[in-house]
Amino acid sequence: MKSHKLLMIPGPIEFDPAVLAAMSVPTSSHTDPAFIQTFGEALQKMRTVFQSPNGQPFIVAASGTFGMDVAAANLVEAGDRVLLLNIGYFSERFGEILECYGAQVTQIKAEVGNRPDPQQVEEELKKGGYKALFFSHVDTSTGVLNDVPALARLAHQYGALCVVDGVCSVAAEELRMEEWGVDVALTASQKAIGVPPGLALWMVSQRALEARRRRKSPVPNYYGDWLRWLPVMQAHEASQFDYFATPAINLIRALNVSLSQIVAEGIENRYARHRRMSHVFKAAMTAIELDQIPVSEAVAAHTLTAVRYPKGIQAADFLPRVAQEEVIVSGGLLPPIKQEYFRVGHMGNISFGDLIGTISAIERALYSLGYRFAVGSGVAAAQRAIQENGVA
Ligand code: PMP
Repeated sequence: MKSHKLLMIPGPIEFDPAVLAAMSVPTSSHTDPAFIQTFGEALQKMRTVFQSPNGQPFIVAASGTFGMDVAAANLVEAGDRVLLLNIGYFSERFGEILECYGAQVTQIKAEVGNRPDPQQVEEELKKGGYKALFFSHVDTSTGVLNDVPALARLAHQYGALCVVDGVCSVAAEELRMEEWGVDVALTASQKAIGVPPGLALWMVSQRALEARRRRKSPVPNYYGDWLRWLPVMQAHEASQFDYFATPAINLIRALNVSLSQIVAEGIENRYARHRRMSHVFKAAMTAIELDQIPVSEAVAAHTLTAVRYPKGIQAADFLPRVAQEEVIVSGGLLPPIKQEYFRVGHMGNISFGDLIGTISAIERALYSLGYRFAVGSGVAAAQRAIQENGVA
């Protein structure tokens, strides 16, 4: 038995040893010039990773939900109308957050496994009066991918801000924030960013910052007011110190290492590698005749795969059985179908070997629980998918 099982869930992910090593050093003062430099470098690299050279990056000690919370708190005033696209569990959460701040929320809810048609979104936006359009890039509960460029274009056309929950997409799914006109994109450290949980990261366009400045009522959230953090972020990018609340020093050191790896890989290469890992894994699931939650490949995320159990296989048996094979995968999350599927994350610096190991663990678990199929056919399909592109 290994002491460490392979963590193949849709976040937290497997972290690179160099990232973990960066955390295991004595904590410096947050006023230490070397740390200020590290913080500033991490902010600059965010511009590359989010493809937002003129946006304003923020790094704050919190989880991804906080990024959602403050996007709503800063942009919405009581009574504002917003449009929310609902593709699963985290879209529901965005709705609850928006209501907390008094927004009048209209939802377009897609069928499970699907995403709203941009035409339907346009018909709603056309009615006018929407301050912002909110949606998740990838909903981690369903593995569905939204069409960000089409949605951002529509938001702009109808004068609404475009806010993207990118917790399960940033640094893995294609996201060209500035080119596409996304106003806010937020994420958390523990997914494709590749750092243990504890940091919320978000990028804000100048247009969204302006909307925050123009609001009439104060932001009803102390720790989350963008304008309290703005001078801190600007100072660190200019290699200067400023304080609002103590930063997560060791996590930010680790973040700078991970962002350096991402930038060194090249963001385009990273998108392509995630598409490829997704293709390999999905090909294996298809070969062992398992269905997926997304209704088609076109609407499926590349950061995770949501797979239906074959008849007779229960989550309560399957998940611990896979864990016995030294691999951790996740159960379902969306309440009405929670027991019907499992989720596998394939983000970050994992290898084809990790993917093959995961597929083979899933095959062994399914077979031992009574599912009959051609054992090895998933692994073979994955090997073929890897060979088709040449071995990286
Ligand atoms: N949005 C999405 C799409 C997510 O996947 C998650 C976490 N799984 C969140 C928001 C919430 O992030 P956190 O758990 O870091 O608060």
